[in-house]
Amino acid sequence: MSRREHVATAARRLATEGLLVGTAGNVSVRDGDRIAVTATGVVLRDCTAEQVSVVTRTGEVVEGSLLPTSELDLHLNVYDATDAAAVVHTHAPYSTAVACVLEELPVIHYQHLLLGGTIRVAPYATFGTPELAANVRDALSDRQAALMANHGSVAIGGSLEKAVDHALLLEWLATLHHRASALGVPKTLTDDEQAGVITQALRRNYGNTASINQEKP
Ligand SMILES: [Zn+2]
Repeated sequence: MSRREHVATAARRLATEGLLVGTAGNVSVRDGDRIAVTATGVVLRDCTAEQVSVVTRTGEVVEGSLLPTSELDLHLNVYDATDAAAVVHTHAPYSTAVACVLEELPVIHYQHLLLGGTIRVAPYATFGTPELAANVRDALSDRQAALMANHGSVAIGGSLEKAVDHALLLEWLATLHHRASALGVPKTLTDDEQAGVITQALRRNYGNTASINQEKP
């Protein structure tokens, strides 16, 4: 699959999952010194390879006929600052709701630790500006995802599939926080409890299948 088709497939999946609505949101993947990124104004549910442009690290279009997303600076900034292989930006409903109210999304469930810890909310700035790109880059420090105040979410990963997984996980965690908050004040995991999760995850190779013969007691 070409890198442009790869991005289009991920965009269609995220739209099907309800994370990308209409033309809101964008997806990119890094391939060496090239970045394949969804074009501006594309209905992401129907995204095709032709609606994905390939740019250089400085944003010059080298493949495709459409102008890249207005958040191109955000994607380029993240690639400059991290070793991420892919970036997913959404206006997912619960993630965006959390980003309109909270300063950060606390760890109330152990799966949250797959994203690296408490999720920061990047301060608000106008969409498509270098200021917003810089705020998101900072919020992503040592994390696989961040929220954007009164705007949406960003997830990264070591592959496009991982970045998509992280965007879905963040939306699940935001939904969980919303539902738990309807019942009372959600309890956060303590530092000790979080350390215990990481120890256990490493011991059990969490998230991967294991044959019966191989699993350690
Ligand atoms: Zn946006």
